Amino acid sequence: MIKKERSFPVKLYTLQALLRRLPKHHPKYQSLQDECLRRKAGLKGEQSIDYELSQLHTKEDYIFHDLRLPNREQFFQLDTLLVTKSFIVIIEVKNIAGTVYFDKKFNQLIRSYNGVEEAFSDPLLQIKRQRLHLMELIRLHKFNIPVESLIVFSNPHTLIKASPEYAPHELSNIIHRAELPFRMNLIKDKYQKEIITPKDMKKLSSVLLKYHTHEAISAESFGVRKEDVIRGVHCPPCNYIPMERKRKKWYCTACNDHSKTAHIDSLSDYSLLISNTISNKELRDFLQIPSRCTSLYLLQSMSLESTGATKDKRYLLNLERSSCDCITHRNYAPNKLFW
Ligand SMILES: [Zn+2]
Repeated sequence: MIKKERSFPVKLYTLQALLRRLPKHHPKYQSLQDECLRRKAGLKGEQSIDYELSQLHTKEDYIFHDLRLPNREQFFQLDTLLVTKSFIVIIEVKNIAGTVYFDKKFNQLIRSYNGVEEAFSDPLLQIKRQRLHLMELIRLHKFNIPVESLIVFSNPHTLIKASPEYAPHELSNIIHRAELPFRMNLIKDKYQKEIITPKDMKKLSSVLLKYHTHEAISAESFGVRKEDVIRGVHCPPCNYIPMERKRKKWYCTACNDHSKTAHIDSLSDYSLLISNTISNKELRDFLQIPSRCTSLYLLQSMSLESTGATKDKRYLLNLERSSCDCITHRNYAPNKLFW
């Protein structure tokens, strides 16, 4: 049973919004573009094991996606967590093309692809930390259940190598996706005894869901000042900024597209990059609309919730964050921001 669906990939969408609204010469542009590509690949990798997972767990098992849990002053994140009555498995999915080399000396993962080497943080250290933090949290709530962890490479063509200093057992939880069902059977064989009751499973689930905390993200989270974000309505098909407003429509001079609702996409960017509330004045500044009447018309047409009286009125950019099964398709309802 899926107890927590995969979250709306807010960091990925924020990066996409940021990339279309930053000048290409901005010092952060290249690193943000790289991070965006990594996150897209990561999400694709996580989605790619959904089928295997659906075949692996029983109705009584619980699956949690994208948990962000506290550990002292910080948080740790778990892509996928499988909770059964006998054991827990942390599944960390890596979607990395090319050859990956686990370097023990410097605790890093080196990827070689098309003749270029790139360093990633060490997934072995990552799952060690995740396991430790998760065990601390569940023991705090009096649950004592074995926690296993797996690093699953989702791309079958990834060539996995490791430095010879590693003992075989240190690498035993690194697997390819195809091995996942067999490895899960081994774990099931290892922990046959039921340790927690169905009632305690529910309690444990409530603890995990209670402690799960969303991360507040904005342009500033990526080291970009909000003043650097380019204003104007962007063209949804080609990302050109600014679209021009004529006869109650938005026109793109780059691709000749026109739209009645392009401002909604741009307000979605605003909610991701700057704030999830906006005043009429801020809307005029962000969308570069000189006319107060036009901005008021647009605000009213979206039927947004608002707070405050006339002058201090702020509109809530109500982002509906559903579980994400596709990272490229977004649908918009005419009167509402809708992902
Ligand atoms: Zn265009």
